[in-house]
Amino acid sequence: MTDFGDRVSNAVRDDHLHIAIDRATAALRGRRQTALDSLPDFEDVRDFGRAVKLETIAHLDEHLVRFEENLTANGIQVHWAEDGEQANRIVLDIAKRHKARRVVKAKSMATEEIHLNAALEEAGLEVLETDLGEYIAQLAGHAPSHIILPILHMTREDVGQVMHDRLGVAYTDDPQEMAKTARTTLRQQFIEADLGITGANFGVVDEGAICLVSNEGNIRLTTSLPKVHVAVMGIEKLVPSLDELEKLLRLLARSATGQKLTSYTSLIRGPRRSPDEEGPEEVHVILLDNGRSQVLAGDQAEILGCIRCGACLNACPVYQQIGGHAYGDTYPGPIGSIFTPGIRGLKSSYELPQASSLCGACRDICPVRLDIPRMLLSLRRESRAVAPMGWTWRVGMKGFAFFATHPRLHRWVRNVGRFFLRRMADDGWLRTGLGPLGAWTKERDFAVPAKRSLTEEWRARKRKSS
Ligand code: SF4
Repeated sequence: MTDFGDRVSNAVRDDHLHIAIDRATAALRGRRQTALDSLPDFEDVRDFGRAVKLETIAHLDEHLVRFEENLTANGIQVHWAEDGEQANRIVLDIAKRHKARRVVKAKSMATEEIHLNAALEEAGLEVLETDLGEYIAQLAGHAPSHIILPILHMTREDVGQVMHDRLGVAYTDDPQEMAKTARTTLRQQFIEADLGITGANFGVVDEGAICLVSNEGNIRLTTSLPKVHVAVMGIEKLVPSLDELEKLLRLLARSATGQKLTSYTSLIRGPRRSPDEEGPEEVHVILLDNGRSQVLAGDQAEILGCIRCGACLNACPVYQQIGGHAYGDTYPGPIGSIFTPGIRGLKSSYELPQASSLCGACRDICPVRLDIPRMLLSLRRESRAVAPMGWTWRVGMKGFAFFATHPRLHRWVRNVGRFFLRRMADDGWLRTGLGPLGAWTKERDFAVPAKRSLTEEWRARKRKSS
């Protein structure tokens, strides 16, 4: 079995993981629906959001040039990073120039993608995550498992235990108490930090500004208390102006956390200026490519329109079963199954596009209507070039094609199969299958076919009504 296969097998047997995922995703889906009901023109805003993102991607080169000019005019220092290594080097150079030792970080998928924490720690810097979920993940030594809720794989009892073990505080699973402990520990660190690092939810081209959203206020502290602020931002995160930003923020908050708007929305337009009493003396924006240009040139360019709301993860039946870590990289769920092969190359992640039932729930829930199933299918086709099918699969698929194009044979085999399966079943479910079915029933029960096929049922009803 491959590493991916191993991770999936372990995850589907992990009942504790399923409890944590069920609790969190059910709550998120419920909150999202309530928030959507408060926006009567939601479908129109979705169309608008999709159009804006696709237009921006189609003219990304022009938008990026204007964005850089406007950032620079606002006093922000702009850097371009072709890959993660270069981005990490830029951050390290900035840290060195300022003799920084302590770094506070806000939640950022881009910095996870390039393993920035490891690079900083290797260089001797102290790095502290300040988003509550990321902070717990850091204490526990876990990678985030969800784009919006990094510790979705943990129950609140797990979190209480980690805080007890790592911080020496009395065990509690009361969320208010746990948040209070984290806040007290983090506050002093903000004051002592030399460098604040964030990602960016959006880059606003006309304004020469970056936009960051949060619910905990930690982003405001990360971007205003340290003397230097560095934002690492994927080049696809642009919106043309504040008008488009306002609509995308409404989509993002509703889809991500089920809120009308997140508690804090920060627009950063440069370093502190006289007579400002606070704010960083330097602001740097690192525009990260890391494979995005390659994605832009390919058949899955649409994925660059993703606004990282995480809704497709909460809707995906595969994510519900295997959680985020089984995907083996920064971006889990349907978005990860497309974005990861795009930026890392299909050779190392050709299995990810298979991690989907193609049910279309991700497309239905996506606030910018990305056609995720289409992109997954196109990646599956492309993956054949780097991971050709084994002969058993090839023969099997050829056999299936023959069988499916000969209706009489199909009907006969189906009837025989149904006869035996129904006899072997217990209460409508097969618990131990033979041959290839054995692999299925090892992980889950198999629902045996109904007494009559859909065609037979249809005919019977027609006969009855005529
Ligand atoms: S693909 Fe769509 S639903 Fe999934 S994270 Fe991106 S914007 Fe959200």
